[in-house]
Amino acid sequence: MAADIEVLLRGPKAYGLARRAMEAMEAHNVWPTPLNFELWLHYVADADTPLGKAIAGTVDKGEAFTDGLGEALAAQHLPSAKLNGELLTAGDALSKELDTVSRAIESARESSEAYGEQLATASQSLGSSTPPAVKAMVDSLTSATQRVQRENQALEDRLADTTAEVTRLRKHLEAVRREAMTDGLTNLANRKAFDEALDRALQAADVSGEPLTLAVLDIDHFKVFNDTWGHQTGDQVIRYVAGVIARSGAEPRTAARYGGEEFALILPGEDVSAALAILESVREEVGSRMLKRRSTNQDLGMVTVSVGLAERLPGEPQGSLIERADAALYASKRSGRNRTTRAEMISAAA
Ligand code: GH3
Ligand code: MG
Ligand code: MG
Repeated sequence: MAADIEVLLRGPKAYGLARRAMEAMEAHNVWPTPLNFELWLHYVADADTPLGKAIAGTVDKGEAFTDGLGEALAAQHLPSAKLNGELLTAGDALSKELDTVSRAIESARESSEAYGEQLATASQSLGSSTPPAVKAMVDSLTSATQRVQRENQALEDRLADTTAEVTRLRKHLEAVRREAMTDGLTNLANRKAFDEALDRALQAADVSGEPLTLAVLDIDHFKVFNDTWGHQTGDQVIRYVAGVIARSGAEPRTAARYGGEEFALILPGEDVSAALAILESVREEVGSRMLKRRSTNQDLGMVTVSVGLAERLPGEPQGSLIERADAALYASKRSGRNRTTRAEMISAAA
């Protein structure tokens, strides 16, 4: 769990921490954007948290701390507090609105009950009534009816307003939820969404008994690409690769950006041979295009991806499936890159 940023920035060590965060960012060529500052503040405050360890990992490996990485880390470690806050606010507003609806309905019910009682009294009195009393009764009925009509109109207006408000809140909730589950650079599912989708897909596979294959993909020699062409161009390449993967990932598949330049594709219902055909076409398509920098029309060459595939073994837990797919990816890297390896091939070789 990341520390509370408010507490960090208002505590006795605030200035010291802020200075250390800025120094660390400068030392690692990280732009002092508010998001980066928040991430690095957590890192200098406590490098032992999952977020601290993730940042320490990139620093130790000498990897560049890109905007994409920052966004991925924030999506994974930071925003829950903020987004949860928004969700709660939206949820509170929603329940207040629903409360208004139920109170409106209740008051309509009460007034129609009152109307009914008046009507009943009126009809009882009719037989023995003298004409002036009948007239008074009719008058009372008429005014009661009018009151009910006015109340009904007011109720309808309130219901219409409430429905519009509930629709607006639902859309807002949906947008917040989508934002929390989407990778900002590529629009693919983010790591959190991937974890949840895989969990759901595995449960569904347990029930249906259908196969499920997990693919992990990683851009080859991407560090060199970044070093040659810069990170912004690198980000565009990440979007390009994401686009190719997304086109192969229509429902019920989930395409996700798993980390910086790593992707995952969950293929429910596909055994490893079917998945191999799909992933081979993704791999070939990625490597088939000569990339150009739009602004200068400069040729950037081609990029390739390596792929690892693992078909889920009966009852296999999520962690083990991911590990086997990762090991298959690693085998693709070791044996020359720009290829797809199936996990069972390496277990057979081991
Ligand atoms: P390999 O073929 O073994 O995968 O080599 P590689 O250079 O791709 O692998 P490595 O994991 O060593 O480096 C990944 C690089 O990806 C490091 C970092 O510069 C780059 N990277 C990670 N995330 C992002 C990002 O969001 N944007 C950009 N432009 N580059 C990123
Ligand atoms: Mg990588
Ligand atoms: Mg790579």
